[in-house]
Amino acid sequence: MNRVASLYKPYDQGVLTFFRGKLLEERVKIMARLERNSNPIFVEELNGAESVDKPLVFEKHNIEERRDSKELADIEEALKKTEDGSYGLCDVCQIRILLARLEACLTAESCVSCYAKEIKNHPRILKKH
Ligand SMILES: [Zn+2]
Repeated sequence: MNRVASLYKPYDQGVLTFFRGKLLEERVKIMARLERNSNPIFVEELNGAESVDKPLVFEKHNIEERRDSKELADIEEALKKTEDGSYGLCDVCQIRILLARLEACLTAESCVSCYAKEIKNHPRILKKH
């Protein structure tokens, strides 16, 4: 296989297993955070807050919860991809996403150049990945 074709080749099993492990760790952390957000500690924090601060406490938890739920969905999606071998390939151009980018963002779905284009075309939708 020539060099260009190999850029579009799925990552090998060792790499997929490595990232699968990281994704599973991350999922445990997020699930713990979601759990905490819905348990009595949150209610305590809410009750302990000055009434003027209560909406802020609520809002903060809502934002965190939305972010965590989205992240959890992204992680589930990425885990599926580690199974079918498409993990680490850009959703847009199918080229391999650099390992350094995947390490920095486990659920990255596009390569740096596709991501840059997307930001340029939709400057107001600042996506996480
Ligand atoms: Zn791409």
